[in-house]
Amino acid sequence: MVPIQQVWEARRRIGTLVRKTSFRECPFLSEPSKGRVSLKMETEQPTGAFKIRGAANKILSLSDEEQARGVVAYSTGNHGLAVAYVASQLGIDAHICVSNRVPRAKAEAIRKFGGKLEIYGDSQDDAGRRARELRDHEGLTVIEPFDDPHVIAGQGTIGLELLEEAPDIDTVFVPLSGGGLISGIALSVKANNPNVRIVGLSMERGAVMHESLKAGRPVEIAEVETLADSLLGGIGRDNRYTFAMVKQYVDETYLVSEAAIADGMKFLMKRHRIVAEGAAAIGVGALLHQTVPATGKHAAVIVSGKNVDPAAYFKVVNDVS
Ligand SMILES: *Cc1c(COP(=O)(O)O)cnc(C)c1O
Repeated sequence: MVPIQQVWEARRRIGTLVRKTSFRECPFLSEPSKGRVSLKMETEQPTGAFKIRGAANKILSLSDEEQARGVVAYSTGNHGLAVAYVASQLGIDAHICVSNRVPRAKAEAIRKFGGKLEIYGDSQDDAGRRARELRDHEGLTVIEPFDDPHVIAGQGTIGLELLEEAPDIDTVFVPLSGGGLISGIALSVKANNPNVRIVGLSMERGAVMHESLKAGRPVEIAEVETLADSLLGGIGRDNRYTFAMVKQYVDETYLVSEAAIADGMKFLMKRHRIVAEGAAAIGVGALLHQTVPATGKHAAVIVSGKNVDPAAYFKVVNDVS
C-alpha cells in the first residue's frame, strides 16, 4: 500500500509542472441529485488531463542517471501525452508506445510535445510489450500508467485539493480504468475522513477493474469501442497496487451506458461550455441518468480530461440545444 506521506511529497515535487485546478459548483446537477454537486476541472492541466500529476511525480523521483537514460511509456493517449510533456519540460528523452487504436489527435499531440511515438500492435498490451523491450535493450525506465506508488501518489494530490476546496464533501465520483486515479484520491481523502464515499465509474463494456473486483482477481477482457476511450486497457494480471487499493478503499463501482456518457459530454458543453472527453464526462452522465442511487449532501465529480478527437466530439455534441 502507498503511505499518505507520499502524496504530500508528490505535492511538493510536482508544483512547478502541474496546475492546481478549479473546483466549481454545478447548480444544474444539484437539483436532480438532491444535494450539492461540484466539478473538479482536470481539463485545465497543461496536457488537458490529470495524468500529468502521476507522470511528473514519477519522473521527478528518478535518479539523475535514470533521467539521463530516458523514459518510455505505453498509453491510449493521456498518459503518453503527460510523459512526453513532463520529459520535454525537464530535457529528458521520452519514447511513447501506443497501439494503432490511439485517436489521431492524441498521436499528433504526443509528437508535438517532443515524444518519440512508436505505434505497435492492436492493444495496450502490445504497446506494453514494446515498452519493456526498450527497457531491456536500451535501459529506459518504464513509466507505468497507474500501477506504481509514485503515479498513484501523484494522482492523489487531487484529493488534497478537494479537502481544501470542500471539506464538507461526502461523495467523490471518479472515472475508473486502471485505478491509479481513484486509488490516489481515495488514499488522500480517506486519510482525512474514512466515511467519504468513493464511487468508481466505468463504461458498460470493457470495464476491467469492475469485472476483476467481481471475480476477486485481475481478469482480462477484450477492448470494445467506447466514447470513454481513455478508460480502455487492462489492469495487468500481475497488478501489484491498484487492484488491492481499489478493493480496500473504493466503496462502489458502477457501469455507465454510452448514452449517459454522451449526455454528460453534451451537458458540460451546454451548461458550462466545457469540452470534456467521454471518460471525463462519465460522472456527470451517471448523475444525469441516475445510474448511482444516492449522491450525498455534497458530491465532487472528477472531470478528468478534454483530449477528444474534434470530429468524434462534434458528432456527439452536434444536436446540443
Ligand atoms: C487515464 C484516465 C482515466 C482513468 O484513470 P486510471 O488511473 O487508469 O483509473 C480517466 N479519465 C481520463 C481522461 C484518463 O486519461
